[in-house]
Amino acid sequence: MTERTHVKLLIVGSGPAGYTAAVYGARAMLEPMLIQGMQPGGQLTITTEVENWPGEVEIQGPELMVKMEAHAKAMGAEIVTDVVTRLDLAQRPFVAECDSGRRVTADAVILATGAQARWLGLPSEEKFKGFGVSACATCDGFFYRNREVLVIGGGNTAVEEALFLTKFASKVTLVHRRDSLRAEKILQHRLFRNPKVEIVWDHELAEVTGADDPLGVTGAVLKSTKDGSTRAVAADGVFVAIGHAPASELVKGQLELHNGGYVKVEAGSTRSSIPGVFAAGDLTDHIYRQAVTSAGMGCMAALDAEAWLAEHDEAGMPDPAAAELPEAATAQ
Ligand code: NAP
Repeated sequence: MTERTHVKLLIVGSGPAGYTAAVYGARAMLEPMLIQGMQPGGQLTITTEVENWPGEVEIQGPELMVKMEAHAKAMGAEIVTDVVTRLDLAQRPFVAECDSGRRVTADAVILATGAQARWLGLPSEEKFKGFGVSACATCDGFFYRNREVLVIGGGNTAVEEALFLTKFASKVTLVHRRDSLRAEKILQHRLFRNPKVEIVWDHELAEVTGADDPLGVTGAVLKSTKDGSTRAVAADGVFVAIGHAPASELVKGQLELHNGGYVKVEAGSTRSSIPGVFAAGDLTDHIYRQAVTSAGMGCMAALDAEAWLAEHDEAGMPDPAAAELPEAATAQ
C-alpha cells in the first residue's frame, strides 16, 4: 500500500481513547490513520492486572492494549508506529510531522495523547533517575529483589505500584503526605493487610540520598507535613507515584488549555477551541482518568469528528483564518 499523505481523520495517541476513536472512525468509513506515539498502547502497557475493564474480571494491561490495537486494525483503521513531533493546527488541512520524516495532512484530528507520570522536581530526584529513582514499578521492580524501596504518593498508582513491588522487594514503605489515601478502597485493603508494607503518614520526600560512584540510591530524607521535622531512612530505590500530567506539549499555544495543561473541550463534547480538532481521554480529563472513561471519550470524539466532517463535506472546509488562535489559547 502506498503511504497516505492526506487523511480525513487523523488520531494521535494509542491508549484506550485513541483506539476506541479508531474503531468508531473506521466503522464510520472515515478510514482513520492512528499514529501511536512514543509508547504504543499508552499507560496501560506499564501496568499489570486491570480489574475494572467491563467484561474482563482480570486482564493484564499490555494484553488489553494489544487487543484494542487488533480491534482497531480489524475495523480498517491504519495504525502507524511513529511519533508526531509537530502538529500545525493553524492551517487547513491540519499538518502533522513525524519523527520518521512522514508528513500527513488531515481534515480533522482527534488528540488522544494521554498523560505522563509527574515528578516532584527535586534536584536529587533528577540526579538519581534511572539509578534508583523510577516512576514505573512494572518496568523497574524486578531490580529490587530482596531490597527495600519507598513509594511516594497515595492514589491508585502509588498503591498499585507498592503492591506490585511486594512481589520483589523485602520491604515496601509507602510515604504519603496526608493521613488517608485517595486510592480505591479495595486497593487500600490489599495494601493494609500486606505484611511487607509499612506506611509513613503525613510525610513527603524532601531528598533522595545516595552514592556517586557508582551512582545509586541508599536512602531518603522524609519531611513531616505536620511539624516540618525531617528524618533519614534507608532505601535501595524510590518510586515516585504522585499522579500524571496531560501530554499537551504538541498543542500548547495552539489550543485552549486549562487546569494545568489539559485540553479544554466544550462541555458535553470533545470539541476543542479549534473547529475540527477533538480531544479525548487523559489529555482532556482531569477528573475521572480511567481506561473506560477514556475509551468512552474516544467514542465521543469519533462521533463528533464524523458529524463535523459530514457538515463540512457539504459546506466546504472552514477558512484557515477561522483557525486563528483564541486570545486565551495558552491560558492554563
Ligand atoms: P492521583 O489519584 O492524582 O494521586 C496522586 C497522589 O500523589 C495523591 O495521593 C497525592 O496526594 C499525591 N501527590 C501529588 N502531588 C504530590 C506531591 N507534590 N508530594 C507528595 N504527594 C503528592 O494520581 P494516580 O494515582 O496516578 O491516579 C491518576 C488517575 O488514574 C486517577 O483517577 C486514578 O483513579 C486512575 N488510576 C486508576 C487505576 C485503576 O483503576 N486501577 C490505576 C492507576 C490510576 P493527595 O492525596 O494528598 O492529593
